[in-house]
Amino acid sequence: MFRFLLTVFLICTYFSCIGQTDFQVHRYHDPNIGFINIYLVETSNHLVLIDAGLTNYHAEAINQLIDSLDKPLHSILLTHGHIDHYAGLSVIESKAPILSSKGVAQEIEQNDTYYMSRFTNPQLSSLIPKTRIGPTKIVDDNYSFKIDHVRFNSHNMGAGESLDDIYWEVTHKKTKHAFVGDLVLNQMHAFFQSGYSENWKKSLIRLAKTLHPKTTIYPGHGEIGGKDILHWQIKYIDTYKATVAELLKKGNEFGEKERAYLIDQMTDFLPGERANFLISWSLPTIIDELSHTN
Ligand SMILES: [Zn+2]
Repeated sequence: MFRFLLTVFLICTYFSCIGQTDFQVHRYHDPNIGFINIYLVETSNHLVLIDAGLTNYHAEAINQLIDSLDKPLHSILLTHGHIDHYAGLSVIESKAPILSSKGVAQEIEQNDTYYMSRFTNPQLSSLIPKTRIGPTKIVDDNYSFKIDHVRFNSHNMGAGESLDDIYWEVTHKKTKHAFVGDLVLNQMHAFFQSGYSENWKKSLIRLAKTLHPKTTIYPGHGEIGGKDILHWQIKYIDTYKATVAELLKKGNEFGEKERAYLIDQMTDFLPGERANFLISWSLPTIIDELSHTN
C-alpha cells in the first residue's frame, strides 16, 4: 500500500494527467530546463510516447512512469530533430519502434554534433546521454495507425521551427489532440536558427485553419492549450521580425544598442525569464532571412 501511495505521489508531483480511463495524456514537464514537455498517451492496453526529452533524468522519469502504469510501450513518436526532444531516446528502456520522417532522421544525423556543441555549460552537458539515436522506423506524411480505438496520424509540415516539423494528430472518440512539437513554444522565446521562420508561420496559419476548433494543442515547451496558442506563436514571430526589420530599415549596423532594444521589446512582449537567451541566439539568422526577403 505504501509503495502504491508513493508511486501516486511521485506521479502527481512530476506529472500531470488529463483524460478518461480509456484515454489519458500524461505530461512530464521540466520548468528548470527550457520548459520541456514529454507526453505519454495511455490507451486501454498500451502506451505511446511522444518525444523523449534532453537529459538522462527526463528519460528515467519516463521509464518510472511506464513501469508504474504497467502497460507495454507500443511506439515512440518524434515531432522533430532537435536535441531537446530526441537525446533521451537511448535511455528509454523499450524496444518499441521510434517513428518519424526521413527529414527528422536526416536532421539528427547531420546536426547532432553541432546541437551538442551548443551546450557550453559543462554541468548541463553532463546530464545529456552520451549515446543519441534517431528514428528506427521512417514514416511518410499522413501515416496512420490505430490502437485500442485511438487513432494516431502523422502530418509533415516541412521546414519551419526545425528542418522538418511533424505534428501527430490523435483522435479518441470525438476528441482531437495535436502534438505539435516546437511548432509552438508556448510563452517561451523562440528558436529561429533553422532559418525558415516564414514557413514556420505558414505552418501555424495552416494549423489554425485546418484543426478542429476544439483541438487540444500539446506544445513541445510550455503549457497545453487550445488553438489560441497557435495565434500567440504567430504573434511572437511577427513581433520579433517586425522589430528587427524596423531597426534594419534605419540603416545602422546591428550593434549592441540595437540588440538591447530588441531584447527590451521582446521582454515587454513576454515578461519574465522565459529562456531569454534565445532572443540573441536567433538574431543573426533573422537578419539573414530578412536581408534575403527584402
Ligand atoms: Zn524543443
